[in-house]
Amino acid sequence: MIKAITGTKDILPEQISEWKRLEKIVEEKMSCFNYKEIRTPTFEETSLFSRGIGEATDIVSKEMYTFTDRSKTSITLKPEMTASVVRAFIEHKLSKKQNLHKLYYISSMYRQERPQAGRLREFHQFGAEAIGSDNPMLDAEMIELAYDILKSFGLKNLEVKINSLGVPSERESYKSELKKYLSDKFDSLSEDSKKRFETNILRIFDSKDERDIEIMDGAPKILDFLSDESLEHFEKVKNYLTGIGIEFKVDQKLVRGLDYYTNTTFEIVSGSVGSQSALCGGGRYNLLIEQLGGPPTPATGFAAGMERILLACQNEGCSQEDKSSLDVYLVRMEPAKTSDVFKIAAELRNNNLKTELDYLSRSVKAQMREANRLKARFVLFVGGEEFEKGYVVLKNMESGEQEDVKQDNLDAIINRLNLK
Ligand code: AMP
Repeated sequence: MIKAITGTKDILPEQISEWKRLEKIVEEKMSCFNYKEIRTPTFEETSLFSRGIGEATDIVSKEMYTFTDRSKTSITLKPEMTASVVRAFIEHKLSKKQNLHKLYYISSMYRQERPQAGRLREFHQFGAEAIGSDNPMLDAEMIELAYDILKSFGLKNLEVKINSLGVPSERESYKSELKKYLSDKFDSLSEDSKKRFETNILRIFDSKDERDIEIMDGAPKILDFLSDESLEHFEKVKNYLTGIGIEFKVDQKLVRGLDYYTNTTFEIVSGSVGSQSALCGGGRYNLLIEQLGGPPTPATGFAAGMERILLACQNEGCSQEDKSSLDVYLVRMEPAKTSDVFKIAAELRNNNLKTELDYLSRSVKAQMREANRLKARFVLFVGGEEFEKGYVVLKNMESGEQEDVKQDNLDAIINRLNLK
């Protein structure tokens, strides 16, 4: 039997209502904050990601789905959206249209990671990017927006962590200090961290190895290396958050995996999903647009993992029951013909009423069972003596009231059904 590829998942009909509930909240909140949706292709030229995300990152060095197509172009399935959004921003010269672009997306992403709970190879993210301003208010807005969506979905067990990585020169001097600090502890580091020491030293902070964690607890702190200007930016972000009542923790170990961050970084973690606890991460990336060939343009953004959010919600018991129901189920009885029922169904559906009928030649009793299973608000009996006299019978399933309605007076039925 052919099965879904490891790390990919089907989303079955019974799971869809929670996905839709989340998507609806995302769309409503994004619109409320005036973000406009953007959609980009599933695959891009590989160099977009290797240049944009950084060769030394985990994503680029070991997780991308990269292949050469028939025209010998190296193609990569998008592992994240920021690089694609920036590519679209540059390609369509959006900077000429207006100064600030507030964009959002909901899309599938692809990374060849080791699958585990909350870590898939095809997963879904929603996220936002504000391109065109260095205003710290936008950094705070990103956190507010992400937090607001998670709260509205019903999540409670959340923690906001923030940090600042400053500008590259500050980060470089921090990295060399970190290198000095770690060089005499090198032998005690885990194998992974030894590699990161050379390739991406900041990522040692992400290690889950206890010895590494202990060593990194004593490491120099990034905020001590930031200029007054960078610190002032960070201070403002914190003040904006405090001003709107969002609690946060400054976590100087929060370096995030990607090269393109400058100044603010943040994560929202959940205490309800085990080790893969980051529901959402983001930050400012003032240099990426220029790095990808666009005009120097400051920007900030975030991405949130939808599978993890759904898992957290399930674990917290905040999932909601699927309340969708039918407006009407048509029960056919002799001597009515299937074509009579089919025609009535067509007219009701033309009036946007959610209508179902029997396709399996079931008994009246079985049709009623089906109507109940589908939580039909009304049942319309088509058949029996009434039908011979030119009537159909409409039953309100909640009150149990029944009413005979002339078969050719569908307007009357539609009126009753429209009374929600
Ligand atoms: P990142 O782009 O790595 O900062 O990820 C942003 C968010 O996407 C994370 O906080 C996760 O919620 C989610 N995410 C990242 N990688 C995966 C994955 N492999 N499977 C499921 N969710 C993921």
